[in-house]
Amino acid sequence: MNGELTIGIDVGGTRVKAALIDASGALMNQLNVPSAVGGDYQAVLGQLIDVADRLSREAEDNKPVGIGLGVAGLIDTERQRVLTSPNCASLNGRPLSGDISQGTGLPAVMDNDANYMALGEGFCGAARGSRHYIAITLGTGVGGAVISNGVLIRGVNGGGELGHIPIDRMGPRCSCGSHGCLEAYVGRSGIQRYISRHMPQHKERGLKELSKLAARGDGAAIQLFGYIGTTVGILMAGLVNLFSPELIVIGGGIAEAGDILLGPLEAELRRRAFDEYLPPLQIKPAELGNWAGVIGAATAARIMVNEQ
Ligand SMILES: [Zn+2]
Repeated sequence: MNGELTIGIDVGGTRVKAALIDASGALMNQLNVPSAVGGDYQAVLGQLIDVADRLSREAEDNKPVGIGLGVAGLIDTERQRVLTSPNCASLNGRPLSGDISQGTGLPAVMDNDANYMALGEGFCGAARGSRHYIAITLGTGVGGAVISNGVLIRGVNGGGELGHIPIDRMGPRCSCGSHGCLEAYVGRSGIQRYISRHMPQHKERGLKELSKLAARGDGAAIQLFGYIGTTVGILMAGLVNLFSPELIVIGGGIAEAGDILLGPLEAELRRRAFDEYLPPLQIKPAELGNWAGVIGAATAARIMVNEQ
């Protein structure tokens, strides 16, 4: 064990993941439990306090010194309030980190889950040592963050919602209420729509199975990952022109498809972004998998405690 421990918690729509984490980013005592976010606020709060208490007890004589909470949704980090959480409506408007701090007696800090995934990858994953990178995570929704000159970019009320950058003036309706957003194309429902329309023979198959089929040379499956990679590449070209990063980290289940996804993404990027910005640019799959958000949250808690 390396230095003081902090607790990282990733509050998702289906699972709550949490762990004790030491100063080197090593995970200990991982918990992965069904999420109570379908219930009312007290149920959610009770579950998260319980998870933190359990980890504190397990830490024995090296008690954790703080808690980081990653929550899917729009978070007002300044006032530490959940603005809206699409999968956890009972959290809307709530000062979740403050209430958890009160319930556990530990300082707590909260941010968007994709921001913490990006910080986790920067701390001890694929973006280790990088000060200029973009992290994007492709799952049911599409999230991400831009780290520029070592700082996570945010604005007055949040920001960093890469999945909700429009890439088409018309485009399909998005879960956020707008249309033509990146997520409307390569979020889970956008991909389902593509499969139904262009490869109905594969309608019943999951993405994991389709990536195996693509690796074995199935033309339709290859085309699907080409569609996803190209679409993400369009947005990334814009972000590369805006921020000139040295690295793009791709996370989420779909990223496990590897080159059949990253190849078309890179090709599209090369077609669209400034040539001058391309030579230092690397594209890498995320390294910390499902636990990046937990590690990032615990790291944020460590930074908060050290700054106090
Ligand atoms: Zn949207």
